[in-house]
Amino acid sequence: MLNFAKLGFTPLLILDDGHGPETPGKRTPPFPDGAVIRENTFNKAVIDLLEVEAKRLGYKTLQVAPEDKDVALATRSNRANKAYADLKAQLGNTRGMMNGKAIAIYISQHYNAMKDTWDGSTANGMSIHILGYGGEAAKIATSVLKYLAQGTPQTNRGIKVDNFHVLRETDMPAILIEAGFMDDPEDAALMSSPAYHKEVVSEILQGIGEYYGVGYIPEAGKHTPQEEAVQAAINAGIIKDRDHWLAVLNGKRPIDLRYLMIAFMNTKGLKIK
Ligand SMILES: [Zn+2]
Repeated sequence: MLNFAKLGFTPLLILDDGHGPETPGKRTPPFPDGAVIRENTFNKAVIDLLEVEAKRLGYKTLQVAPEDKDVALATRSNRANKAYADLKAQLGNTRGMMNGKAIAIYISQHYNAMKDTWDGSTANGMSIHILGYGGEAAKIATSVLKYLAQGTPQTNRGIKVDNFHVLRETDMPAILIEAGFMDDPEDAALMSSPAYHKEVVSEILQGIGEYYGVGYIPEAGKHTPQEEAVQAAINAGIIKDRDHWLAVLNGKRPIDLRYLMIAFMNTKGLKIK
């Protein structure tokens, strides 16, 4: 479990699997054997695993469309806003922000497409969409994209501003992740890969954990002693920058004695003026 004590609340991750399985379009062009992969197959696999993994780490979660049928976008945003209002009332908080962080985040998972044929488009890769810059959503998107870009090599299309329903009609910071292109053969091949689902989930949670300053604990059995040591030090409030200290422990960055001294000072509650 992550340590949320310094936040003063347990963040709520509101999870949206994009479209229902029957939503028209929203599938790959036919593979040579005639099969298609529906966008929901990927989105739902990622959102279901994201819920399991987020709970394992101690986050609160809500799926806005857990049904195996099409759920209207307005139903998705209404369910999210209701849960958000309840959470604000429960925390006695009207702004939705505590200790400088959002109490809830809306995460909508998608797979992109330009055309409905294999040869119609050269677009590929992943992107994160937000309603606009300057708010918490942009900070969250920046952290999540940083980790998404570290896994399977894909074109990083960056952060994009879009007036999508679930970005516009949700009251909490919202991000919409396009994890690849259904009409790009290489990206499409990743859609039914459990390894890619796991990777995307882990990267999203690393980004969210960085935004909240709580880090990330890899799945049991998957973490190195270095990762365990760094997470223990983050939980103890000794260090903050997971990437920096992992690089130091892995010998990829020289030990910076100033960092070491600052880490020591953190344990004593001292600050450099
Ligand atoms: Zn979609």
